[in-house]
Amino acid sequence: MAWGHPIGVDVGLEKFLATSDGVLVKPPKFFKNLQSKLRLLQRRLSRKQRKSKNYEKQRLKVARLHHQIDNTRKDFHFKQAHALCDAGDMVFMEDLDYRTSAKGMFGKHMLDAGFGQFRTIVKYICWKRGKFFGEVDARGTSQQCPECGGEVKKDLSVRVHSCPHCEYQTDRDVAAGQNIRNRGIIAISTVGQTGMETACADDLPGVGEARSRQVSKPPKGKTRKLKK
Ligand SMILES: [Zn+2]
Repeated sequence: MAWGHPIGVDVGLEKFLATSDGVLVKPPKFFKNLQSKLRLLQRRLSRKQRKSKNYEKQRLKVARLHHQIDNTRKDFHFKQAHALCDAGDMVFMEDLDYRTSAKGMFGKHMLDAGFGQFRTIVKYICWKRGKFFGEVDARGTSQQCPECGGEVKKDLSVRVHSCPHCEYQTDRDVAAGQNIRNRGIIAISTVGQTGMETACADDLPGVGEARSRQVSKPPKGKTRKLKK
């Protein structure tokens, strides 16, 4: 339901997430440990003779660890999703197709972090807890000032947003989160015609789902691929 405190969430590799309220969550360390353990087990597996008894034993170990990693990640994603819902009433995330960007410069890491899964889980938890979820077009959220809307070019190595137009300063990813929040608010007030109050009054579970899809529609009537 579109009412109350809005939160924009930026996800990334350096920080797992950053919110418009300035909350920063680092990627958990245990992932790295589990990943290196996985590499070790896989290396051992590759040395075993295929279809031998030892190969099967080792294969099972690898599979179990994969399973453990998936569960640990999912658990972490659920906890973070709940934390977002504890902190706000509307959650906005970027409308990125992570399967596409995974092919790009970030490659495997992007998939490892499971951002696509995280977004799906956040959506689900919002629905379950009666919070509003919306997706926004994320293009340029890292190059814009959330305070004055001016363009602030910076490459990935620049970790601080420092606006030459209005002198607003904050963490780079927090600024991105704030831009996502701003776009989300603009999107729902456009969709709801008379603004957020109406969206609140006639919003029912299920309707919210349809509405959040509407919100995420990019401007200029471009069609976008439906995600499952
Ligand atoms: Zn500015």
